[in-house]
Order: sequence, then structure tokens, then C-alpha cells
Amino acid sequence: MGMNVLYVEDNPDNMILVKRVLEAAGHTLFQATTGLNGVAFAEKEDIDLILLDINLPDIDGYEVARRLRHSEKRILAYVPIIAITANALLGDAERALAAGCDVYMSKPININELRARVEGFAGREKQDGS
Ligand code: MN
Repeated sequence: MGMNVLYVEDNPDNMILVKRVLEAAGHTLFQATTGLNGVAFAEKEDIDLILLDINLPDIDGYEVARRLRHSEKRILAYVPIIAITANALLGDAERALAAGCDVYMSKPININELRARVEGFAGREKQDGS
């Protein structure tokens, strides 16, 4: 089944690309262009997976991940988060994981990798949700 995916991203080109890829795979993409809007949306709606840019105009993706993991909406401690960032520096993956992200992908976005990562979480949900 398709998942409800939230993408927190301020770059419109990446947003369009990811929307095309995920909708073609049967998922629904919800969009937030700032970190604060992303947190608010995740707390309001039922989201199965979060894609998270790190460089955002307000709070950064690390802070978004920390706020989601410590949200009063307890399910957000467990919703999978895929960090996506242009920061290619050593240590970024570790920072993303330390902030609560499950997986780290670097930009430019590799479409095949994105599909595989997303379907990995979709498959896991299918197995668990019998
Ligand atoms: Mn950005």
C-alpha cells in the first residue's frame, strides 16, 4: 500500500523530483518548506515516513529530527526519518543519526537509491502490519 510521506525541503527542484518519484510508486507526498512547518505538519497528520533536508531556512534538519523524536505525539519517536543533505562533510551522517534519523542520503538525490530506501520502509511496514 502507498505511504503518507512528508518531505521537509526548501529547494523546489528537489521537491518536484521527489514528488514525481514517490507518486509514481503509489505514495502520497506532503510538502513542508521550513523545519517548523514540517514538525507542525507531522504532529497534526498521520505520516508513515519523513524525508528531511538538513539545510532549512529556519531550524535545521537535525533540530527537526530531535523535536520529532521528543514530540508529545509519541508515535513520532518511531516514524522512519531519511535525512537528505548536500553536506558531504565527514560527520554529517553521524550527526543525522545522533539526532534521530534512521538513514542518511547525500545530494544530488539518486533516484534509484531513493526508491530503494522508501520501498525498504514500505516493505517493513507491510511485514509488521499484518
Ligand atoms: Mn535546503
